[in-house]
Amino acid sequence: MLQRCIFKRLQQRCCLGNQDATKSLLSSGFASALLGGHRAAGSKSGVPDVKERTLIAVKPDGVQRRLVGQIIQRFEQRGFKLVGLKMLQVSDDLLSQHYCELRTKPFYPRLQEYMTSGPVVVMVWEGHKVVQASRTMVGHTNPLEAQAGTIRGDFSFHISRNVVHASDSLDGAQREIQLWFQKKELLNWDCFDQTLTCEV
Ligand code: UDP
Ligand code: MG
Repeated sequence: MLQRCIFKRLQQRCCLGNQDATKSLLSSGFASALLGGHRAAGSKSGVPDVKERTLIAVKPDGVQRRLVGQIIQRFEQRGFKLVGLKMLQVSDDLLSQHYCELRTKPFYPRLQEYMTSGPVVVMVWEGHKVVQASRTMVGHTNPLEAQAGTIRGDFSFHISRNVVHASDSLDGAQREIQLWFQKKELLNWDCFDQTLTCEV
């Protein structure tokens, strides 16, 4: 709330052309606090955790159907921050680690064939409650039950070709991010609109 007030004050000063006052606010360190906006996980002050991360992957059917851009756009327009992105051909080994809980399921062999049939685009997105929000954006596992407006609800109709993966919990996200990305492949960067998309 305090930072929002400061931001409004900065905006007013800028509009009024009061350059000296604006400069003094900027140099006082308020601006970097406003524009940086990072908070440690699980802050005791009740400040939202804007650094939560999740793993999103466009599956081979999504890549083949040229849906990568539209899927990225949904996360961008929602206000989340992209901190990692790569395209790769998944190995059987990586897939079995990723889906370790599903390895004994009868559908696993077909899932393995599908997921290794072509490249995937895998991403890490960051933001307040991004794990929960992205599950909602992705929609039900079975696209027939996914709501219109969700990625699966808009782009697919069969459970075996449901276009996209999203981590289903905080622990799951952490495990999957470590599995798919090296630390150096994830970037910590400041998004200038962070204070406009989340009260920090
Ligand atoms: N899947 C499938 N048949 C099933 C259940 C799952 O082919 O009966 C596939 C589907 O691609 C799904 C993936 O296995 O996205 C992982 O299943 P999970 O239950 O983890 O669903 P998700 O977390 O992807 O919604
Ligand atoms: Mg899952």
